[in-house]
Amino acid sequence: MTVPRIKKGDLVQVVTGKDRGKRGKVLQVLSKYERIVVENLNLMTKNVRARREREKGQRIQFASPLHLSNVQLICGQCGRLTRPMVKRLGEKKVRSCAKCHETL
Ligand SMILES: [Zn+2]
Repeated sequence: MTVPRIKKGDLVQVVTGKDRGKRGKVLQVLSKYERIVVENLNLMTKNVRARREREKGQRIQFASPLHLSNVQLICGQCGRLTRPMVKRLGEKKVRSCAKCHETL
């Protein structure tokens, strides 16, 4: 079993693109695509046209997935940007912070 680098509920910081430096909570992990959806980050606007008469067209904002390589994990223990390491705890493998070595 591999240990996921980033899990749902983690706090991450964007390192590239227009949202560089912004932080947010991970809402969804799309492991197959190596992408994650972060709350209020990488927002896209979609214009939805009225399909029927009397229905209004709308602009919908949604968080679009970011690639894992564009974000960095923020350690919940020390609050620093970090790269999770995999640590063995008996039979189990867990993530740990590269900076403070706490289990994440
Ligand atoms: Zn840490």
